Amino acid sequence: MSRPFVNWSGSLAFTPSGRAEPADEDEVRELVLRARESGTTLRPVGSGHSSSPLVRTDGTLVSLDRMVGVIDMAGDRATVRGGSRLKELGEGLYDAGLAMENLGDVDYQSIAGATATGTHGTGLRFGNLSTQVSEARLVTGTGEVLDVSPTSNSDLLPAVRLSLGVLGVVTQLTLALLPRYDLRRRAWCAPVQWTLDHLAELQHRNRNMDFYWYPRSDLTQIRTINRADEVPEVPIEASRMSASDGWYEPRDLEVGPTHRTIPQHRELRFEEIEYMLPSEAFPACFAEVRRRIRDRHRRTVGWRVLVRTIAADDIWLSNAYGRATTTIACLQNASLPYEEYFRDMETVFRQYGGRPHWGKKHWLTAEDLRPLFPRWDDFQAARRRLDPDGVFLTPDLARLLEEA
Ligand SMILES: Cc1cc2nc3c(=O)[nH]c(=O)nc-3n(C[C@H](O)[C@H](O)[C@H](O)COP(=O)(O)OP(=O)(O)OC[C@H]3O[C@@H](n4cnc5c(N)ncnc54)[C@H](O)[C@@H]3O)c2cc1C
Repeated sequence: MSRPFVNWSGSLAFTPSGRAEPADEDEVRELVLRARESGTTLRPVGSGHSSSPLVRTDGTLVSLDRMVGVIDMAGDRATVRGGSRLKELGEGLYDAGLAMENLGDVDYQSIAGATATGTHGTGLRFGNLSTQVSEARLVTGTGEVLDVSPTSNSDLLPAVRLSLGVLGVVTQLTLALLPRYDLRRRAWCAPVQWTLDHLAELQHRNRNMDFYWYPRSDLTQIRTINRADEVPEVPIEASRMSASDGWYEPRDLEVGPTHRTIPQHRELRFEEIEYMLPSEAFPACFAEVRRRIRDRHRRTVGWRVLVRTIAADDIWLSNAYGRATTTIACLQNASLPYEEYFRDMETVFRQYGGRPHWGKKHWLTAEDLRPLFPRWDDFQAARRRLDPDGVFLTPDLARLLEEA
């Protein structure tokens, strides 16, 4: 037995029988072949920021912490090693005059781990991080080193861009990038009804826009990010609002490059459930979430609820597959009970056609998930092809991906 693994929030803990930190692709191949021969499982792990049991195994946990950095840059593309953390990647790309088009709320994750679960930020124009992947290389369950790109094994690209780590160990990824640019982050507080009334306008006028709703005060904090050279606008009526309504004027919080402006530091540990809804279902779903939290969970829930948007894509297991998406995330301090609250919220999200975030808390199994993803069967066929012996398939993942 090796040392125990504990995820970022502390709610997922187990002891794998072994841990490995391969230095190169050959060592990854050896690990896969050994697991295949011995009939044990192997789970790739990134920075351990997921709280669903994607990496839990009694077999070997494989970290690519020694396989990091940029391999090659050409024009607006960079090929990077799978273990690279978003933070270091951002710095390296910036030095080379490049930037990712969007990022999520933090940058602690590895690039392979973040894209394996469809990690996303906000902004009507932006897909999740998996949409920025144009090519990938992985060591499959048979030990084959497979390049997947628009010109090589292209049929597998919509599976490999968001793979939950069940198609193989992703050793490198090619990302489509933008020339580097500076952004301006702003925030202000407003009553929830004002935010909901102006939501479409706020989303359209700003490059990135999201808001927190605070259940106890029923107020919101609106966060916008725009290019630093654009003058951001705040809609209307602002002059009529006052602090007694819960209104605080927009403030510039930060101006700087993408990788320093979009991600935030998160010191306080929390648990989270996040569901991706068809955007047209958001108003009714949010109204129900708000009513239920205030009616049933007010005493135990002090933490905020986050609302973001993701552009539609065509990645088979993406939770924004085929639809413009609005997400609702409920957060709870990691030291407090979360399950009753999150399970109740999950019943609401499901009523409105929500799909769960793969890396956060949810209680769905393959039977529930299959109807939510039109290309579900294609993904499972790709998985059986690339991992015929189930080297990457733990009991948790079998429940998630294989109908009983
Ligand atoms: C504080 C915090 C903030 C967050 N903010 C956001 C956010 O803004 N937006 C959002 O969408 N999500 C967010 N998340 C969720 C997080 O981005 C995902 O859970 C992400 O997958 C974590 O990446 P990781 O590197 O920690 O991967 P892990 O959690 O370690 O692994 C995640 C998945 O990736 C697979 N994987 C890892 N490495 C490889 C590899 N080399 N090859 C193949 N598969 C691999 C694993 O097997 C697993 O299935 C947040 C989580 C936390 C704790």
